[in-house]
Amino acid sequence: GGLKDLSVDEKVSVKSKNLDVLAEYNKSKRKKSANFVVIGHVDAGKSTLMGRLLADQGAIDQRTLDRYRKEAEKIGKGSFALAWVLDQGSEERARGVTIDIATNKFDTESTAFTIVDAPGHKDFVPNMIAGASQADFAVLVIDSSTGKFESGLKGQTKEHALLVRSMGVQKIVVAVNKMDTVQWNRDRFEEIEQQIFSFLTTAGFQEKNISFIPCSGVLGDNISRRSDNAQASWYTGKTLIEELETSERYTHALDKPLRMTVGDVFRGSVQNPLSISGRLDSGSLQIGDQILTMPSGETALVRSVEVDGEPNDWAVAGQNVVLNLANIDPIHLRSGDVVCHASSPIPNIATFTAKVLAFEHLMPMMVDVHRGRLHVPGRISKLVASLDKASGEPSKKRPKIVAPGTVARVVIEMDQAVPLEAPTRIVLRHGGSTVAAGLLE
Ligand code: GDP
Repeated sequence: GGLKDLSVDEKVSVKSKNLDVLAEYNKSKRKKSANFVVIGHVDAGKSTLMGRLLADQGAIDQRTLDRYRKEAEKIGKGSFALAWVLDQGSEERARGVTIDIATNKFDTESTAFTIVDAPGHKDFVPNMIAGASQADFAVLVIDSSTGKFESGLKGQTKEHALLVRSMGVQKIVVAVNKMDTVQWNRDRFEEIEQQIFSFLTTAGFQEKNISFIPCSGVLGDNISRRSDNAQASWYTGKTLIEELETSERYTHALDKPLRMTVGDVFRGSVQNPLSISGRLDSGSLQIGDQILTMPSGETALVRSVEVDGEPNDWAVAGQNVVLNLANIDPIHLRSGDVVCHASSPIPNIATFTAKVLAFEHLMPMMVDVHRGRLHVPGRISKLVASLDKASGEPSKKRPKIVAPGTVARVVIEMDQAVPLEAPTRIVLRHGGSTVAAGLLE
């Protein structure tokens, strides 16, 4: 409500520097940015591994770490200290489980990473979907200890991997974790590698987009530094951090049209009263640009740009930004809107086809369509076909019902037109639970 009284009577003008933004970006020493989601069976060591990454990269201070360690020891759960880094609710700590989604950031020399954490509990799949919908790639954590790998496979390992693939995540890094519990046995690693590889390719991941790292999150071996355990000397590949940094996989769609999903609309300073924050999904922009905001179709002027909290003349895909805007009434701006350039606008659509993974039975039914924070009531109006998971070819046309675990092509109709285009990640919910997730075609 506090935005209502902002005056738009007076037209502001800002001179554009007419920069070649892509050339500026290539010249700049700016870090790349990447979001990843962590998946895997409960207790595979996801939280510990992520805590280790944050601690090793200096994203958390020693004092905080020591405090966690002390608290953990007090209740006899010393090894949980790292997991708690990600999970600061005391209630969860006392139970020794991680339950909430947490966003955490750490930097390496080349890249600013954001972890969209995903806990392994069965009830928390919706959180993982929210994470997966923002992820550039996934880290799949596997417990290599005897018996645990096998039970994980029957558990959430496959389900999670299939889900992120259905959401359009192409790259997957497999952390074969807890290698300390099997004395870094190479045969064990290779057996796991073979089985997971075969499953992941069946789920639709391309061979070149899958990698495996034997590691121990608890000890920090092959995470940020190579293991110095003699038993692990057979492994000469990358550490987890080196693998995450392999940068060509993070190439965002810089040369595509501008798309920025608005996270927040807020009042800035007196001189710069109206701001929006969000992430550039594709393309680039610069100060002085005239932008178009959808679904309203209103235009605005970019007065200033902040990238990761610092002023800059421009921004490119993958960056988290704050844009200060002029010449627009804030009533036309909402969380979930899409910002673009008038030269290549995103269309507002009310009907679309999507390829989704079903979590529950699908039939013609009411659903809420979620794209990031945007959600619109609608319905599945047609089941076009069930699809073969690996080939994507129709296995059954016009099914009456689609069973959980099946990939299907469906037609969705929404009650209102919203800015959507292929290949956007969408989630379908019904009666408070997630019934399907996938990609708009
Ligand atoms: P999550 O449920 O996947 O987040 O798993 P946690 O990170 O909470 O870890 C589950 C349990 O495995 C905890 O007791 C951890 O201390 C333990 N753990 C995690 N990583 C390792 C590891 O590399 N080696 C060993 N031996 N234990 C580990």
